[in-house]
Amino acid sequence: MVSNVATDEELRVGVFVCDCGLNIAGAVDTAAVAEYAETLPDVTCVVRNKYTCADPGQNEIKDAVRQHNLNRVVVASCTPRQHEPTFRQCVYEAGLNPYLMEMANLREHCSWVHPDDRDGATAKAKDLVASAVARARFLQAQEEMSVPVSQRALVIGGGIAGIEAALEMAEAGHKVTLVEKTPSIGGVMAQLDKTYPTMDCSI
Ligand code: SF4
Repeated sequence: MVSNVATDEELRVGVFVCDCGLNIAGAVDTAAVAEYAETLPDVTCVVRNKYTCADPGQNEIKDAVRQHNLNRVVVASCTPRQHEPTFRQCVYEAGLNPYLMEMANLREHCSWVHPDDRDGATAKAKDLVASAVARARFLQAQEEMSVPVSQRALVIGGGIAGIEAALEMAEAGHKVTLVEKTPSIGGVMAQLDKTYPTMDCSI
């Protein structure tokens, strides 16, 4: 068992491999991925779920966290864009800090893009799980906080991109300060005579 680099805390990682029905299991050998996950450093328990995001799958995560005293969780399932909030809430309800959860994307990055290459998709899934476990070993608990935000923007550079950005933000209701180091704004655009295809004056 190896300690967390930053805290000297003994690491106990749980890995949860999702079949997503046949969405993942149809193209990835999830049993082999789960078996491989058992060999990774600091992995204490591995569970294969049919649908990890469904209530039974989430309950398996919560049970394993309590039963094995896990302090890091890796969910090998789909894109974090879809279910990162789901699994953060899940581990929070199990008593863990929600930021001690990491994901590996076996669906979009393996089964969906390599549907006709089961061996290749499975090998890639193993690599993604190993990477997620490695990242999880460096995770630190985070606290969320709210701070007042001033709705003001500073745009540095008065070329065409800076001007456009400043105008867009001003139209969205923000107070904008545009800073340009030369005596005039416009950048390269200001040096052009006409612009294609309308041949209008560039400024
Ligand atoms: S967690 Fe993602 S991959 Fe797993 S069943 Fe739910 S949607 Fe499918």
